[in-house]
Formats: sequence, C-alpha cells, structure tokens
Amino acid sequence: MPFTPFHMGPGILIKSLLQGGFSLMVFGWSQIVMDIQPLVVLLSGEGHLHGFSHTYVGASLLAVFSGLTGKYLSELGLKILKMDFSFPINISWSVSFVSAFIGCFSHVLLDSIMHSDVEPFFPFSFHNEFLGLISVSTLHKVCLYSGLLGAALFYGVGYFKSKT
Ligand SMILES: [Zn+2]
Repeated sequence: MPFTPFHMGPGILIKSLLQGGFSLMVFGWSQIVMDIQPLVVLLSGEGHLHGFSHTYVGASLLAVFSGLTGKYLSELGLKILKMDFSFPINISWSVSFVSAFIGCFSHVLLDSIMHSDVEPFFPFSFHNEFLGLISVSTLHKVCLYSGLLGAALFYGVGYFKSKT
C-alpha cells in the first residue's frame, strides 16, 4: 500500500513502549523506502507491483539501507522540526537499525495480509499464509487503534514522568 499512513499506527505503539530505544522518524523513513518500488511500478505501469521489496529477504536489504541513511536523515529532520540546528540530536546506530528492521518487517507483514500479490517468503516459498488472516477493514482498524493507543500511552508516560 504505497505511502498509506496506516503503517505508522503500529510504529506509534512501539514508540510508546520502547520510548528512547526506538526512532519513529527512522521507522517512518523505512515505510517510504519500502514503497518506492510499488510507486515506480504504479507510475510506469511495468513490473510486479509489490515484488522483491515486499519479501522478508528484500525487506532485510531495505532495512539495512534505511538504517544507514535513516540515522542522518532523521537527525536532520528532528533539527528542522525543532528549528534549532545547534540542538544536539544523536540517534544511535542500534536504535536506527532496530527501528528500520521493525519498520520493514512490519510493513511486509501488514501488506502480506491485504495484498494477494505479496510473496513474503520468496524465494523459499511462493505461498502467502498471511493473506486474509484478518479482513482489510479490521486490519485498518488495528493500525488506527494501535496508533491511538500508542499516542495515549506515549503522552501518558511522559506526563507521569514529568510529575515524578
Ligand atoms: Zn507496501
């Protein structure tokens, strides 16, 4: 699903649980990287819509790329958001890679539930056991509610931390 915000829902929930051990920016960047291939296919009308990028093997390669580039891009992005370039922001390599791998693997999982052309275990298997595991509308609700729950938890934890 090219560039849908639904992928961000589980990311927000994971952020609320892992807090500083997870970068939502790097996670978001990995969602964009994952859907570059489907976007090119949609625009050019050529190729396999989800293809190799939406397999766990392909996603592993894209996760390495997202982790390597995401650290610097996200540090820059956070500085721009804070509008303060002297603000020291350092995303560690481990946080960057953990966030990128969670991002790419969760992306394959979510897309394999709703897209019949996704072959997550290629080249080992052409079978997609996850297709139709839950309905598309339920999947969207799960993503939406996990995002809302994550946001509530994130700000809730922050609020309690500021009180203690
Ligand atoms: Zn996708």
